[in-house]
Order: sequence, then structure tokens, then C-alpha cells
Amino acid sequence: METRTRYCFDLDGVLANFHDCFSDLVERKCGVVIPRDDSYPDKYNWYEAYTPDGHKAWQHIRKNPDWWRLLTPLIGETDIANLYRLQKKGDVLVITARSLCPGFISQEWMEDYIGGIPVISVDHWEDKVPLLLELKPRLYMDDHIPTLEALATAGVTGDLVCADWPYTNASRFKRMTTSECIRRYVR
Ligand SMILES: [Mg+2]
Repeated sequence: METRTRYCFDLDGVLANFHDCFSDLVERKCGVVIPRDDSYPDKYNWYEAYTPDGHKAWQHIRKNPDWWRLLTPLIGETDIANLYRLQKKGDVLVITARSLCPGFISQEWMEDYIGGIPVISVDHWEDKVPLLLELKPRLYMDDHIPTLEALATAGVTGDLVCADWPYTNASRFKRMTTSECIRRYVR
């Protein structure tokens, strides 16, 4: 059977800056101020440290799926050029579990901000496990520790890399920024 080299990336928190955009929305909907960048609390749902009303932001997203188009990319021009170089070494795939975002919006976002990289949408992060068992990636990068733990437990081969955020401080997986990760694998 043909074995292709695959480099797989999560979308939010890895390629798309969900965090700042969601913080903007929480600030608007809940009337709080949320510090940015390295000041995020070290928990995955960091906004819960600032407001018990985060559901108001999620309600807005549920009604306005075009909100996802506002996200900015976490990588710059050099990284995008490196991603294209990586595509010459193997297949680059994005796998996302945005349950509230229609798959075509995630794909259009990718084309608008980064370029023609396929986006696979699954309903729940646990659905990434059978998919990645099948894909046998050389690399999978995510910012959600439970996903990486589930992949490791299931025996997904290849390198499991954790995106470097305050909420991934406790990761036992190698942490790096998306820029660093792309640079490392394109070499
Ligand atoms: Mg993510």
C-alpha cells in the first residue's frame, strides 16, 4: 500500500488565532476585559477566569457562523511559504473539530488567509483519533492536550507536537510555536 508522508495540523490555536478573536467577542458580549498573549490563564477555556457568561459568546457564534471568517492567521508570510515547501515533502492537512462552524467556512478561511490546504472537519475532537490512526501522520500538531493524550493512548504514530500557549504549560508533549514547528519539519 502506498504510504504518503502527511503533516497534519489542528486549526484553532495552531493556524487560526481563535483566542484573540474569541476574547474580543467575550469582551463585547460580557463586558469584561481580557488580557492577551502570554497573559492568558493556564487553562484551556481561559475566558472562564474572567466571566461566567462565556455561553453568550458561544450563542452569538451559533447564530453567526460567519464569525469564524474574522479569525486572523497565527502564522506570517514566511511560515506560509514554508508550509508550501512542506507540501513538496508530503501532504499537508488541517483537521478541525469546530462543531459550530460549517466545513466550507473553515475551508474558505484557509484559502483566504493561508492557501490551498485541505481542511477536514470532524464533529468532536475525539473523532480525530480514528482519522489520525488511519492517516498515520509524520506530524500532528494541536493545542488541546486531551486530544494529544487520546492520540498517544490510541497509538497514533508520528510526532505529536503541542502548540505553545500558557494553557499548554503542563503538556508532556513537545511544545513549540507553529512557526517553529513548520520550520523544523521543512528542513
Ligand atoms: Mg485547537
